[in-house]
Amino acid sequence: MSSPQAQTLLFASLMPRDVILGWETKRMTPAQRAKYRETYLSKKPDQEALSSRNYRKANKEKVAAYQRAYAASPRGKVIRALTEAKRRARKRNAAGECSLSQWEARKAMWGGECWLKLAGCTKAGTTIDHVIPLSKGGTNWPSNLRPACPSCNGRKFNKRVV
Ligand SMILES: [Zn+2]
Repeated sequence: MSSPQAQTLLFASLMPRDVILGWETKRMTPAQRAKYRETYLSKKPDQEALSSRNYRKANKEKVAAYQRAYAASPRGKVIRALTEAKRRARKRNAAGECSLSQWEARKAMWGGECWLKLAGCTKAGTTIDHVIPLSKGGTNWPSNLRPACPSCNGRKFNKRVV
């Protein structure tokens, strides 16, 4: 047999919380509930419409235009180049990752200019060169990355220059 204390506890646990605590239960009258619906629920923002997935669905053109503008922006181009470098590194199982700020620091080291300066160099350090090519075991760590112009980067291809 359980003790009287245990029985009291069991009994208490079966009672509604507000009875145990002596709370007064307030229920809305139908009129109050109707007013609540009208004043609060009707003004609640429509979560369905606010969800980003539904927003994108309803504003396809607007979102596409925004994405095009972002991809064409200087920052968008840099992020695209970094993503591309990461993708190529992953394909080769090469180690290393480089954040946007790390890449910007690397670029600043070269004054934002192409480091190769081969014939036909445009000087603009817009592409990411892997100094030791990924195909030759180079990594994607910032230390292996330098800015190069598209012309030099294409010319260098998978050769080592240093
Ligand atoms: Zn160049």
